[in-house]
Amino acid sequence: MSRPIHATIDLAALRHNLGIARQYANGAAIWAVLKANAYGHGLLRCARALATASPAVDGFALIELESALTLRAAGLQQPILMLEGFYTADELPLLAEHRLIPTLHTLEQVRTLAHTRLPGKQPVYLKLNTGMNRLGLNAEELPHALRWLADAEHIGNITLMTHFAEADSPPEASSMALQIQRLAGMIASVQQPDRPAWPLCLANSAALLQYPATIDGPQAMPGSGWVRPGIMLYGGSPFAEPQSAKTLGLQPVMTLHSELITVRDIARGERVGYGGAFIAPQNMRIGVVACGYADGYPRHAPTGTPVLVAGQRTGLLGRVSMDKLCVDLGPVPQATVGSPVTLWGHGLAVEEVAQAAGTLNYELFCALAARVPVIETD
Ligand SMILES: *Cc1c(COP(=O)(O)O)cnc(C)c1O
Repeated sequence: MSRPIHATIDLAALRHNLGIARQYANGAAIWAVLKANAYGHGLLRCARALATASPAVDGFALIELESALTLRAAGLQQPILMLEGFYTADELPLLAEHRLIPTLHTLEQVRTLAHTRLPGKQPVYLKLNTGMNRLGLNAEELPHALRWLADAEHIGNITLMTHFAEADSPPEASSMALQIQRLAGMIASVQQPDRPAWPLCLANSAALLQYPATIDGPQAMPGSGWVRPGIMLYGGSPFAEPQSAKTLGLQPVMTLHSELITVRDIARGERVGYGGAFIAPQNMRIGVVACGYADGYPRHAPTGTPVLVAGQRTGLLGRVSMDKLCVDLGPVPQATVGSPVTLWGHGLAVEEVAQAAGTLNYELFCALAARVPVIETD
């Protein structure tokens, strides 16, 4: 027998969540964001599950060129959007050959692409900076970019894109309205009456869930736009409220399972784990779980972080170590060596664990370590 830790990846839940994204997308097409190994869930297995969903996903969005080539080598034919475009000009022939759509976010990228002869007509995304101030063209750069692209024969359809910094905040406290207003201003400044409007691609999960009818919806050409959900496809909520994934009807895709490998009774005043960070306030029974930070469990999770043991909710005790963590068996007196433990997923919202550890579901998913065996369920 091997170490009892494993993660299950529930592909039926992934397809279910795609269905929820469809409901909110309001006719817009869906890029499933699969960057970072599908947020730790496994690139190919997620791509295949989404490609065979019905209706199937419309395309995949990635950051890593290697991942895009992996999808093509596996025979996946969907459009692929590269969210950071290309890094050096020598990638351009590969983009054209494998039909990867670059997101151009600097004038330098626009110039390089416009001046590189490529076969066919390459669709491109133009990323606009509307207030995130990370990637994207500023208002005064947009007309230049459009002119250079119009002058290049090998450039096809142009889609305008922006990214929201605070779509997860309550509308009255967020910069959403400002970003949308700036976007509208940028578009109006380059729109000509005889030219059809550009398709738009605006929403991540938070924007899609919170503004379904105003972003990519009726105000922005229904059916012609695209949305870019990531976290919600994996059953994670982009919102702070720990129960919000459930409220939204999202199902967890990743569940991290392990078992108790030791049970022991300790006397009042005994310390547990490195640094003696937990001191028993009374005689108690504790369990040791085969899961530590080298498996992707957050080392900063404090005493009290929720853990399920034999289906019962209990809490972490003391410091998380590399391969182990300790739990209070007070609420689970029947627990023995071999009792099943859920660290997050079905039965315990990853958002609760993330909140206790001062991080996000995104980081916990992405941190799942390569040494944790994965079992796909469907
Ligand atoms: C990662 C990413 C997304 C997906 O964001 P979620 O919050 O996971 O839905 C969308 N757009 C861009 C540009 C991204 O980098």
